[in-house]
Amino acid sequence: MTDFTELYERLKQEQKNLNSEIQRLKAEEKSADEQREGSPFGKREEGATEAFEMEKRMALVRRLTDALAEVEHALKKYEAGTYNICDLCGQPIEPARLEALPQASLCLKCKLLQAKDARSRTLR
Ligand SMILES: [Zn+2]
Repeated sequence: MTDFTELYERLKQEQKNLNSEIQRLKAEEKSADEQREGSPFGKREEGATEAFEMEKRMALVRRLTDALAEVEHALKKYEAGTYNICDLCGQPIEPARLEALPQASLCLKCKLLQAKDARSRTLR
């Protein structure tokens, strides 16, 4: 049995970083809200820039939230004793892959299959 304590510590740290980053962005959003007094439409140009900034921030929050969910999923797997087991095929995930991406929940083969699948579904 390989010792994953170090990877677990890295995941814990990552979880903390992501949480505080999300909190920071949400606080920023809140203060932007407070500055937006009077008519929400204000000057047209300003509104557009603001909407763009908000859009960007929301996309970032979404990405960080997704990343956090992956990290927390990996932490749960660690606690359940299935940390290095692929969610799809049940085979061990390559140690080098976990070393590079401690929150990986799929082995490389399944990950590649999934990526291919997602691409063909979106038809891009
Ligand atoms: Zn797999």
